Amino acid sequence: MCKCIYCAASSGFIGRVCADCKKLLARVQELRGKVSFGQFLDGLEQTGVPRDKILRFLTADPDGKGSIQDQVTAEMTSELMKVMGISGRQSADEVKRIRDTLAKESE
Ligand SMILES: [Zn+2]
Repeated sequence: MCKCIYCAASSGFIGRVCADCKKLLARVQELRGKVSFGQFLDGLEQTGVPRDKILRFLTADPDGKGSIQDQVTAEMTSELMKVMGISGRQSADEVKRIRDTLAKESE
């Protein structure tokens, strides 16, 4: 049996992503760029997938390109900066770096 690349649950014989995470991925594509982060999380919960699984899904980084949470946060930050007239893009890496820095400073 294969394991899901996001939540490590069994994903069946062929899939790399389990049924729940497939549902979440589809919802992410629907919601990203359109809603606030709170609405985004609500939208994911509406799929009926348990919250702890959603959190595991959001923080997984199967491709090494940053977790879904970091990617979505980066997109939202870039959007906000555009609205405020600040040029430049936040990458998922950048968000991660900022968060790590904040975490270190609050220690
Ligand atoms: Zn999964």
